[in-house]
Amino acid sequence: MFNKIKAYVSYQSVRNDTVMKQVTYLNVQRFMLFSFIGAPVSLIHIIVFGFFNTSTPDEGAWRTQIILAHTMLMIVLILFGLFGYRVTRRQYKDELYKVLHIGFMLFIMTFGIVITGIDQLVSTNVTPFIMSSLVCGVALYTRPRDAILVYMLAVLAFVVMMMLTVTDMNVRVSNQVNGLTIGSLGMVLSMILWQRKVITLEQQVMINQQKSELEKTNKQLERLANYDLLTGLLNRFAFNQAIDEYLSKEEENGCLVFFDIDHFKNVNDTHGHPIGDALLKQFSQDLVDAFDSKGIICRWGGDEFLVFLPKVELEAVRKLATSFTQSIVNKTYQLNNEKVTITLSCGMTMKKPFEKELFSALYERSDKALYKAKESGRNSVKEVA
Ligand code: GH3
Ligand code: MG
Repeated sequence: MFNKIKAYVSYQSVRNDTVMKQVTYLNVQRFMLFSFIGAPVSLIHIIVFGFFNTSTPDEGAWRTQIILAHTMLMIVLILFGLFGYRVTRRQYKDELYKVLHIGFMLFIMTFGIVITGIDQLVSTNVTPFIMSSLVCGVALYTRPRDAILVYMLAVLAFVVMMMLTVTDMNVRVSNQVNGLTIGSLGMVLSMILWQRKVITLEQQVMINQQKSELEKTNKQLERLANYDLLTGLLNRFAFNQAIDEYLSKEEENGCLVFFDIDHFKNVNDTHGHPIGDALLKQFSQDLVDAFDSKGIICRWGGDEFLVFLPKVELEAVRKLATSFTQSIVNKTYQLNNEKVTITLSCGMTMKKPFEKELFSALYERSDKALYKAKESGRNSVKEVA
């Protein structure tokens, strides 16, 4: 049994850091709110007791002490409130929040005990201690080991206070036993509340973690679904989707350009596939540099690349494709200390003016144009109307 309680208490104190931070923040907000409500209530006590007529010296002493205690309570609550307000707006060390939290609890408990002691001048009432125990148990989320410590100290102080203030033995013992019950009740309430809150917050943290993992996976899936892994260019699926919009508008002009590296197989055979991969990557970057601002680029597969240029005239595309092909021919790719040169074949076709065209029709014509370029000895640009 004792081991179970020990395990429970230590388990409760090694909770996840994010949860602890949230609980601390909630506590500061709570005691700030509590302070701002409690201070005017204390003021009301001071005013009411100020007008209170007393008939015996004990009543007079009781009145004066109550007014003094509430004045002190009001001042301390205002200070706690202001300090709470300040610490919710800035980040301080965790230790400060802990000290404030325990300090607030100890102060409220002490106040309950002192007022109960003062009340013994005129009654046997222990209500102030009940209230402070409940306030600390219910208003704040306290780690069980801290709650045990605070409530044990409070009950001890309460027992001593009754010894000092109550002369009637029966009343004293009765109050002391009641104090023990009240303290235990507050401690149990505090522990129940803590456990519930921490479980809820932990679930929230777990949900948030799962949510961000899901978002990450979704992004990866989206990337896998739309992009070519080696080059980072759009894949067939995404390319089709992207240009469908242009093809569906009959008034839109456009041109599909098909690039294929000549004898790419030889690059792999001579330099190895990793160099072939590196070349495909650098070539893709060249395509991006040349066409990204003007159109949509895709790795169709292997060493085949498609570019769709919307709103262009044939002559302009011809110039662009020829100068790009020429720039590649003139380029020496420096790949892992190996120098590689390539040539490029290009087939292009214009979207038929004032017609809605299917992508498959454009693709077929650009493929024929590419075939013509290969047939004519490669390293050339051809078109099919
Ligand atoms: P052609 O001038 O007729 O286009 O000749 P080619 O050798 O370029 O054409 P072919 O279609 O015969 O070969 C394309 C080669 O591209 C074959 C394949 O090994 C290579 N390839 C396809 N995908 C990749 C890749 O991701 N990485 C590498 N390194 N090579 C690839
Ligand atoms: Mg090829």
